[in-house]
Amino acid sequence: LIVPDNPIIPFIEGDGIGKEITASVRLIIDKAVAKSYNGKRRIEWKEVLAGEKAYNALGTWLPAETMEAFREYRVGIKGPLTTPVGEGIRSLNVALRQELDLYVCLRPVRWFKGVTTPLLHPEKVHVTIFRENTEDIYAGIEWNAGTPEVEKVLKFLKEEMGVAKIRFPETTSIGVKPVSVEGTERLVRSAIEYAIRNRLPSVTLVHKGNIMKFTEGGFKKWGYALAEREYGDQVFTENIFNKIKAEQGLKEAVAAYNEAMESGKVIIKDVIADAFLQNTLLKPEEYSVVATLNLNGDYISDQLAAMVGGIGIAPGANINYLTGHAIFEATHGTAPDIAGKNRANPCSMLLSGVMMLEYIGWDEAGNLITKSLETLFERGYATTDLARFMENGKALSTSEFASMIIN
Ligand code: NAD
Repeated sequence: LIVPDNPIIPFIEGDGIGKEITASVRLIIDKAVAKSYNGKRRIEWKEVLAGEKAYNALGTWLPAETMEAFREYRVGIKGPLTTPVGEGIRSLNVALRQELDLYVCLRPVRWFKGVTTPLLHPEKVHVTIFRENTEDIYAGIEWNAGTPEVEKVLKFLKEEMGVAKIRFPETTSIGVKPVSVEGTERLVRSAIEYAIRNRLPSVTLVHKGNIMKFTEGGFKKWGYALAEREYGDQVFTENIFNKIKAEQGLKEAVAAYNEAMESGKVIIKDVIADAFLQNTLLKPEEYSVVATLNLNGDYISDQLAAMVGGIGIAPGANINYLTGHAIFEATHGTAPDIAGKNRANPCSMLLSGVMMLEYIGWDEAGNLITKSLETLFERGYATTDLARFMENGKALSTSEFASMIIN
């Protein structure tokens, strides 16, 4: 995405600890940008309201002007938001994603030296997750047991669709799992493009197609078909491997695979979700870019972040690569228990800010921030939540930690 030297970037401060972390993150980003480009580039921050701050000021959780700003300026960043209870909105985050059709949830996972982790070799984890963000059982199409909707669906399933193998007692609630060719293709295309652009070795399609054949199995089938149809020369798929194996033998297939790897082709492979979770613990180096459905992606994102000790600092973004719209966000919640105490860890939002800088092509500023974080973690400096688990950990407040990054 090409932006001017002084792009207007809307930001939502966020509720709870949002105020503290957003202030620190903006300050750090401003300093990094100024230093990287000798003051020639500068972000024009534009505050837009959402969550409690919006509700208190305007009586609405997600004002139309906020949506408009994200639509107009395309790239924005947000702190965590309180989820309204019983207000007709399931989640503000979901509303933002749906409104702008942000179909990729992007979650890069890496380890920072010094951060305590349950793995013996956390340095082997370098995974970027592309989670489909708009479909699947996660889309929120579900009905409660005993409602007329469920009665109708059950009647339809039993009488017209002949689904007799399940008892469907009266206590049954029902959810719908939509997965489409279009939804799968745009997600997988983004993942392949990302791998090619960043010279990464593979894209793995993670699914449960062995059980859910038309939805998750469809995801796998359509993913492979897209890779072969649109990226023929640039990829080598497991399908091609199997074809060579069947026609010419295993030795030839392995030789073709090795040749593809050496010539920089992206290997497209797939794995069943449960095996994937086991494999990531045993041989994480086998995975680079991962493309998966919405619910799998939810579990996978947190499991991988936890593996590198980064559940509290994992960054994320929701992106529509076709329109360019993107919202970068802290992946944790509002942490009401520590809000206002200057104890919050700003790293999830800060690393999301780094992703945002990379997205607009300001890599130098992003790298500067990442480098200083690497240095601080390695020396044991962190906010309390991380420092207490670190060898020689030195706990700092949010503002002290932010100053140290800047220094
Ligand atoms: P939470 O992530 O806010 O807190 C869980 C635990 O992690 C708490 O002990 C908290 O102190 C700690 N924690 C979280 N972020 C931290 C940080 N940056 N630094 C240090 N410690 C941190 O989850 P929750 O308590 O389940 O949710 C609180 C509110 O946040 C709810 O209203 C929920 O709906 C909302 N929420 C928002 C988002 C979002 O906007 N993306 C995500 C999750 C939850």
